[in-house]
Amino acid sequence: MTTSVSDISRKQSAELFEKAKQYFPGGVNSPVRAFKSVYGTPLFIERGDQAHLWDADGNEFIDFCCSWGPLILGHNNAEIREAVQEQLGKGLSFGAPTKLENDLAELILTHNKKIEKIRFVSSGTEAVMSAIRLARGYTKRDKIVKFEGCYHGHSDSLLVKAGSGLVTFGETSSAGVPKAFADETIVIALNDKQALEQVFVDFKDQIAAVIIEGVPANNGLLIQDKDYIHFLRDITKANGALMIFDEVITGFRLGFEGAAKYYDIQPDILTYGKIIGGGMPVGAYGASKELMACISPDGSVYQAGTLSGNPVAMAAGIAALSILARPGFYEQLEKTTQAFVDELRAHIAEKGYGVRIFTIGSIFWFAFSNENIQRADQIDPASMENYKKMHRELLNRGVYFGPSGYEVGFISAAHTEADLTKSLAVIKEALDIVFQ
Ligand SMILES: *Cc1c(COP(=O)(O)O)cnc(C)c1O
Repeated sequence: MTTSVSDISRKQSAELFEKAKQYFPGGVNSPVRAFKSVYGTPLFIERGDQAHLWDADGNEFIDFCCSWGPLILGHNNAEIREAVQEQLGKGLSFGAPTKLENDLAELILTHNKKIEKIRFVSSGTEAVMSAIRLARGYTKRDKIVKFEGCYHGHSDSLLVKAGSGLVTFGETSSAGVPKAFADETIVIALNDKQALEQVFVDFKDQIAAVIIEGVPANNGLLIQDKDYIHFLRDITKANGALMIFDEVITGFRLGFEGAAKYYDIQPDILTYGKIIGGGMPVGAYGASKELMACISPDGSVYQAGTLSGNPVAMAAGIAALSILARPGFYEQLEKTTQAFVDELRAHIAEKGYGVRIFTIGSIFWFAFSNENIQRADQIDPASMENYKKMHRELLNRGVYFGPSGYEVGFISAAHTEADLTKSLAVIKEALDIVFQ
């Protein structure tokens, strides 16, 4: 049974949001949470269990946002909770090494042969910022190339969007980023070999690194062609530039070796976040021993963190990744996701709706378009109006998607068959309303 709109009260959330607006810019501590791209105001979440969320008014939702990706095991996983509880009794932070850091590193490095050494930080932003510094320190070059439609956190060098023309200096996409920083970042289109060739002609011997998301998943799900990723690998190598694979979403989501394995590629530096901390704030970057020898205190590239390798966060990461390392984990999750997407695609095809669902691993994205979208400029901003409507209908029926049509959805191992069956019925109903 689906709930009708009028049964749902959002009174508590609305009151909490009014209060929050007095305390925080826009009432939130991270902008997309503010529900600016969808109807209504943010739901204030009280608790989560498995694939379910409860808001401050006691409404229950099946969650496909999963904290924007980290919760591949759902909410309140018993093994993670117990590991965290055990560590809580021993102390929250020491600012000194712990065995837990070794254990998490060992777990990662034995299952991920794309990196030989790793450094833990506290967020994805920090991981990417440090990877960029490492690339610049190692190559002794300043310029970096990024792609329109890829998000790499909010560090200055990466809050840059494409200017006009095929290959240009970027323009800042945030106030407060010096133009001189944006001048060091060149932004080009995804899946475009010609733009890549041109950038290495125009900025010969100046490019420290090209950074790309393992699979771009922050501005729609823009799955790149395999031969393009290999072209990117070859052209960076030929020009003495490093290839940075930002696997903050795809790392431990597509498997321990993430998108690097999917594309069968060896990037120079890889960055991680989200899933790696089991729901706690952890990021990491890794590379070959040779590259990582540049990092302080072994080398001259400085990078540090008071709470880096935090023992509680490490305990959560170890518990989470130990579960992910079990045989068949990813195969099962991918199978579940494929079946879910297949059923929706069948409904869409039967009704002739202009929707395409892109998916890889346990990630999915609804594009209100018939195009095979692989670049940011192929997404029609006007199509977001349909997402906005769908989002409202989903929320009213107890299904929680991220509050923006540019965001992807995630299926966790905690989503049961019953959760998915109910969600499928709700999503079909929501689509029927959008296209009625
Ligand atoms: C989320 C994300 C980041 C930023 O990570 P934070 O932990 O939010 O700082 C960087 N890169 C990618 C690909 C991401 O998805």
